[in-house]
Amino acid sequence: MAAYKIIDHTYDVVVVGAGGAGLRATMGMGMAGFKTACITKVFPTRSHTVAAQGGIGASLGNMAEDNWKWHMYDTVKGSDWLGDQDAIEYMCREAVPAVHELEHFGVPFSRTPEGKIYQRPFGGHMSNYGEKPVQRACAAADRTGHAILHTLYSQSLKHSCEFFVEYFALDLIMDADGSCRGVVAWNLDDGSLHRFRAHKVVLASGGYGRAFFSCTSAHTCTGDGHGMVARAGLPLQDMEFVQFHPTGIYGSGCLITEGARGEGGILYNSAGERFMERYAPTAKDLASRDVVSRAMTMEIREGRGVGKDKDHIFLHLDHLPPETLELRLPGISETAKIFAGVDVTKQPIPVLPTVHYNMGGIPTNVHGEVLRPTAADPDATVPGLMAIGEAACVSVHGANRLGTNSLLDIVVFGRAAALRAAETLKPGEAHKPLPKDGGDLAVSRFDRLRNANGSMHTSEIRNAMQRTMQMDAAVFRTSKSLAEGCAKMDQVASTLPQIKINDRSTVWNSDLVEALELENLMDCALATIVSAEARHESRGAHAHEDYPERDDVNWQKHSLALVKDGKVSLDYRPVHTYTLTDEVEYIKPQKRVY
Ligand SMILES: Cc1cc2nc3c(=O)[nH]c(=O)nc-3n(C[C@H](O)[C@H](O)[C@H](O)COP(=O)(O)OP(=O)(O)OC[C@H]3O[C@@H](n4cnc5c(N)ncnc54)[C@H](O)[C@@H]3O)c2cc1C
Repeated sequence: MAAYKIIDHTYDVVVVGAGGAGLRATMGMGMAGFKTACITKVFPTRSHTVAAQGGIGASLGNMAEDNWKWHMYDTVKGSDWLGDQDAIEYMCREAVPAVHELEHFGVPFSRTPEGKIYQRPFGGHMSNYGEKPVQRACAAADRTGHAILHTLYSQSLKHSCEFFVEYFALDLIMDADGSCRGVVAWNLDDGSLHRFRAHKVVLASGGYGRAFFSCTSAHTCTGDGHGMVARAGLPLQDMEFVQFHPTGIYGSGCLITEGARGEGGILYNSAGERFMERYAPTAKDLASRDVVSRAMTMEIREGRGVGKDKDHIFLHLDHLPPETLELRLPGISETAKIFAGVDVTKQPIPVLPTVHYNMGGIPTNVHGEVLRPTAADPDATVPGLMAIGEAACVSVHGANRLGTNSLLDIVVFGRAAALRAAETLKPGEAHKPLPKDGGDLAVSRFDRLRNANGSMHTSEIRNAMQRTMQMDAAVFRTSKSLAEGCAKMDQVASTLPQIKINDRSTVWNSDLVEALELENLMDCALATIVSAEARHESRGAHAHEDYPERDDVNWQKHSLALVKDGKVSLDYRPVHTYTLTDEVEYIKPQKRVY
């Protein structure tokens, strides 16, 4: 192995990722007095959080009566009873102070005429335990994520946290006793390798939408934290639950926010029918995302799709007043113009369900501490390791996430991780010596890939993976499609050692970045399809045609996938069927209708 220059750093806390989750945690760690580093592969304000459009959920009750207990009920129901209710209680209760805190930090929310934070309706958010839609999504026009991310970045700069921008985290440093001691990263700009020693490593590296061919997420959403965790011998949870957003623009996959339907947009099939009335008589176009995505797919499969190939659906906004479009949805009017060439005041937008969010991820408790479940203790934790945001699975979203609950998740649990660190750690505590082989895993992997000299380019293998996942692990799944998908993914994963890197440089080597990302994506894709194949029921985003019903007797449990050398082994842990406090009771499983 070539000798690499390794630069050592010591911090109390290192956060990997500078999206909303990473920045909220970084800021909180700084406020608690910890010497904190935040490592990010892209400039903080380019993180995918910047693209969030619709809003952040909180029962402020600015537009009509609302209650955090109703929000909790909707989230449990949205999760199709796979979410952990202690975590859901925590998130929905904390939502109201979290949004007020964001307001005080300076997020420029849209306003009602009286000057309160503007809230719009969003899928699955109802009043009075599912009675009728409620306006709960706090919005900054249709650029809510942008507003939140920029505000959190400026706030975290106030608390002398150090940013390592355009550093690519490679692998965790794990000790023989099972605890995490730090992380190794590659400085993309000068090629140096950096070993960060820390009492706590917080993974906030976002989702893995790019395991699929068509997704709304940024090219940087490659499950790097998931890959690091898998290589550390830790499981990934509930990976079979992948959310398809009903309205990705046909062709490009660019997102049209659910806020467009919240503001009155309607889906029509080729017969000119508002078909959602048949599938969800109460919530109609604002039913939960999995319900709307499945309904659209059914319409297309039954020949009522629009366009030349009858393979998509129309979203109409042209009946709405142009002033509303301009005021509430300026960004999507522009997106529709650029990516679909339509003027939303006159023409419908062609849309199709598109991969949007990963409910599964690195399992944690409500404090953001990563779990290493054992038979004796399904809630055992890994000392020194935390995970938050889309990379994590707390699990508040269960089998299906409600819109606006992810921006909420990232700020609530980003904050929770910092609070937990402050409870369990003192600033400046002495560090244990690093294990002798600390960082070797990262460096040898880096060296292996940099010198990879096989016969296949990264893009070729990635393309095969993305197409397989799109084809066989999509909105509708069958025993046959999943079994075929597993076999194909096995084959695709077996080509990884054939990778060829053309550029051997250590500086700005995008070829190498993509190969590192592909290895991470592959672990995510394998965990997803194998967990999906094993789950013989339909729940939330996992719609299995051969097992169309939810099966609470056998399957109300979290999947745990251990990925090692391209092979997946599965285990399960129980769903938390209890709440955090006595103020609310466990919400028992019911049939999920909208
Ligand atoms: C188009 C779109 C619209 C959305 N709209 C909404 C909405 O309206 N409401 C809502 O609630 N949710 C929405 N979501 C979901 C929500 O925005 C995301 O789930 C959330 O922002 C994820 O935040 P995060 O901080 O976990 O990750 P991200 O924002 O994805 O940030 C990940 C960070 O990790 C860093 N990183 C990753 N890998 C590495 C590595 N190897 N080394 C160093 N750094 C690394 C990146 O640089 C980045 O800073 C939307 C999602 C999309 C894609």
